[in-house]
Amino acid sequence: MVEIKTDASLDAMREAGRVVASALDAAQRAAAIGVSLRELDEAAREVLREAGASSPFLGYRPQFASTPFPAVICASVNDAIVHGIPGDYRLRDGDLVTVDCGATLDGWSGDAAVSFTVGTPRPADVRLIETTRQALEAGIAAAVAGGRMGDISHAVGTVGRTAGYGIMEDFGGHGIGRRMHEDPPVPNEGRPGRGFPLRHGLVLAIEPMFLAGGLDAYTTDDDGWTLRTTDGSRAAHCEHTVAITDDGPRILTAL
Ligand code: MG
Ligand code: MG
Repeated sequence: MVEIKTDASLDAMREAGRVVASALDAAQRAAAIGVSLRELDEAAREVLREAGASSPFLGYRPQFASTPFPAVICASVNDAIVHGIPGDYRLRDGDLVTVDCGATLDGWSGDAAVSFTVGTPRPADVRLIETTRQALEAGIAAAVAGGRMGDISHAVGTVGRTAGYGIMEDFGGHGIGRRMHEDPPVPNEGRPGRGFPLRHGLVLAIEPMFLAGGLDAYTTDDDGWTLRTTDGSRAAHCEHTVAITDDGPRILTAL
């Protein structure tokens, strides 16, 4: 079932989104050579705690997972695409890091992700991250009342395919509100003019995930969570929670 949010609910979701943005910002600013992924999680955890928000990630256990997720962020490094568990790994020069974070405040959730590099970046990683960000922007620009879900999916997928990147088939964006994952799904590829009708009050997490090697395939680590490219190539992931409104797309997880 798809819940269309009231304007008051959108304002409440903006506050949850602000906490997500602050937590992501704190995690990114904590990231440096020699810093562990666990420390990034602690930085985000502190922001949630101070805001009085809870984490929709912590303890989350979807059907595909054998254990509950143990942290408030996902931290995925280099060939890890998404769902990485922030553990003892210490960041190295040139690492490509994706941090994904959610927050629930007053019953409403936000969800966003950012990819960035640590130390001296590889030019290929800069291009990959920039392209993923552009795909997110293109998807947001297509998130307009009167349009269709396929407009968003097509905008996102076209940016990725044009650059020659792979796109994960089984994972994409989603509706979001009182729960982190709601209907409708937001695929990262699609046909314009098709799919779920977009209208004022629909809130979506739009989240391109691109694989530099060009393959769409992934494998799952023994931890049951971390998804990796099969060719060892790097991946990037950018996400915002976006409300569709009659005044245009409203990014709820901006700082
Ligand atoms: Mg996310
Ligand atoms: Mg999401």
